[in-house]
Amino acid sequence: MEDCLFCKIIKGEIPSTKVYEDDNFFAFKDIAPVAPVHVLVIPKKHVASIAALTEDDADVAGKMLFAIQKVAQELGLDKDGYRVIFNTGEKAGQTVHHMHAHILGGKEMAWPGV
Ligand code: 5GP
Ligand code: ZN
Repeated sequence: MEDCLFCKIIKGEIPSTKVYEDDNFFAFKDIAPVAPVHVLVIPKKHVASIAALTEDDADVAGKMLFAIQKVAQELGLDKDGYRVIFNTGEKAGQTVHHMHAHILGGKEMAWPGV
């Protein structure tokens, strides 16, 4: 997607602080962190959101949880735990329409917190 901010980050057209990359996923630090650790995990395939997933995306959707697991492990978050958020749709706070998981960690988080 030519006009997609996160597609541009994957291609290196917009700089980011990369923390992980494999054939299917890219992870980088959020530019406006809301926790001591705030990383975004995105599929290299452009999908707008969870709501836009189709059966064709089954492989990438399944693998994404394992990419999140790996990134969180590499960031050292396993011991104290972490939160994973997929904002889906504008009313839910989604501002970038390329599916992404926020990994948040490094602090105590209350629940429910919406
Ligand atoms: P959303 O609100 O769509 O769930 O999350 C989008 C996230 O992308 C926000 O947390 C925002 O801070 C982050 N973001 C927006 N533009 C950039 C950018 O250019 N670079 C990085 N690293 N993060 C960005
Ligand atoms: Zn995109």
